[in-house]
Amino acid sequence: MTTEPTAQGQDFIRRMINEHNRNGRFEGRVHTRFPPEPNGYLHIGHAKSICLNFGIAAEYGGLCNLRFDDTNPTKEETEYVASIQEDVRWLGFDWGDRKFYASDYFEALFDYAVALIRKGKAYVDSRSAEEIRGTRGTLTEPGTDSPYRERTAEENLDLFTRMRAGDFPDGSHVLRAKIDMASPNINLRDPVIYRILHAPHHRTGNSWCIYPMYDFAHCLCDSIERITHSICTLEFEDHRPLYDWFLEQLEAYHPQQIEFARLNLTYTVMSKRKLLKLVQEGVVDGWSDPRMPTISGLRRRGYTPESIRAFCERIGVAKRDSTVDIALLEHCLREDLNLRAARVMGVLDPLKVVIENYPEDRVEELEAVNNPEDPAAGTRLVPFSRELYIERDDFREEPPRKYFRLAPGREVRLRYGYFITCTDCVKDEKGEIREIRCTYDPQTRGGAAPDGRKVKGTIHWISARHAVPAEVRLYEHLFTAPDPEEAKEEGGFMDRLNSRSLTVLPSCLVEPSLAAAAKEGRYQFERQGYFCLDAQDSRPDRLVFNRTVTLRDSWAKMEKKA
Ligand code: ATP
Ligand code: MG
Repeated sequence: MTTEPTAQGQDFIRRMINEHNRNGRFEGRVHTRFPPEPNGYLHIGHAKSICLNFGIAAEYGGLCNLRFDDTNPTKEETEYVASIQEDVRWLGFDWGDRKFYASDYFEALFDYAVALIRKGKAYVDSRSAEEIRGTRGTLTEPGTDSPYRERTAEENLDLFTRMRAGDFPDGSHVLRAKIDMASPNINLRDPVIYRILHAPHHRTGNSWCIYPMYDFAHCLCDSIERITHSICTLEFEDHRPLYDWFLEQLEAYHPQQIEFARLNLTYTVMSKRKLLKLVQEGVVDGWSDPRMPTISGLRRRGYTPESIRAFCERIGVAKRDSTVDIALLEHCLREDLNLRAARVMGVLDPLKVVIENYPEDRVEELEAVNNPEDPAAGTRLVPFSRELYIERDDFREEPPRKYFRLAPGREVRLRYGYFITCTDCVKDEKGEIREIRCTYDPQTRGGAAPDGRKVKGTIHWISARHAVPAEVRLYEHLFTAPDPEEAKEEGGFMDRLNSRSLTVLPSCLVEPSLAAAAKEGRYQFERQGYFCLDAQDSRPDRLVFNRTVTLRDSWAKMEKKA
């Protein structure tokens, strides 16, 4: 007995591929495809499928095609085709010269349908969609045969040809596969394979007024492209017998369909139909809103492709549906940003500090570490002067227990700077604190006292005269419930929107080095989280930062406890 060493710890998909490679079913070839329907933007669920399909192809030295499943002309748009390509590329995958469209094969698919008719395996049904549905039966009862089921091949051929020629209105006829109306698998009860639809198509224009149905088109597109492993989500498991039936009847090249569980995430809706509703109802700022689980939304939010790929690898593939905690996605993001994000100082809610014993006209350049995780990132100089801004929350007139930040008479460390002691706070007429008065200890430059005295708090700050104004946008989950779709009735998830999912802070201040922030630049604002410049709204004279994620890692905490 020998076991394949590479099979160790592998998932069921890779084990099946190994088996095919051993028995020679596909002559050792591995050729997958990612087949999005261009009816929306890609989401993190699609990322799982992309990583799987392109990842497997790369691992086995094979190929992966990008194929637009554009068989439904009414819902598809070229905007989506463009965004899908951008997203797949951004995730780090390359389809080479293998970008295809199901619509490329309309002629071939028509010929396959004709072949089925000739074999007596398909017929034109001239009843309405409702009538056909009404005779389909149920899970416990068989369906009943259509009165048109025994039409001759000649008659079917004539009708189907005229369907294509545009002789009939929408809904007057359909072409159905002739399989078995009593099959326990409802998908095999003479499924519709072509329908009449007088609608222009984004690629074929008005050339066609009949369009193939998904089940018929998909297996044949796979076959035409000589795909070896057609990886899809679990809901297609019951369609596999139909996938196989078409290919057997047509004696066509036969890929292997393999199903895996789709990704669900807590606090997230994933279906494109629901995401479209959020867009159409203006709940979010388009498909790329930083709160959306779309790839473009995650990108705008500041996610890295590396973090998304790491997440997809971590969750792996399974045969049973489950929901992944969104904290795991955020954990993978933090792990990546921790290594690559430059540390900077940004004050979200500024409170002025005047250092009374610091000369008015003096400016010092203090050395700050760019990334303690990455010595190669080096250091930078941060200007320090008499007037600073700190976080309003870093001062309390009456500090609660265990509050170690600034308070009257208390001493704290300014990050990369000096120890300062609060001497007074100045209030306006309404009693609001307007500024803090402090003194600094010139002996503590760099953050240590020569006499060895310690302070418990270290806070971030920005020199007032060097501060760069910025708008900062903070995000929370888009939904209040871990399972927003639990309410199954239509629109149910719309009642679970989180009214606090976006907070705009218009008057933040960031350190001067950020005036040159790059579009794709990612930063850790010390103590505040990871941020990126908003690619859409930020301007050189009006910086806008998105908070990508906070620093608190609830997943890491859970893992520690477990
Ligand atoms: P949705 O239900 O969100 O509209 P879909 O399955 O209709 O998704 P397609 O464009 O048809 O979207 O999907 C392209 C590929 O991505 C398919 O192979 C599909 O199985 C896969 N996919 C879609 N959603 C997920 C998900 N949540 N997890 C894993 N794979 C997914
Ligand atoms: Mg779909």
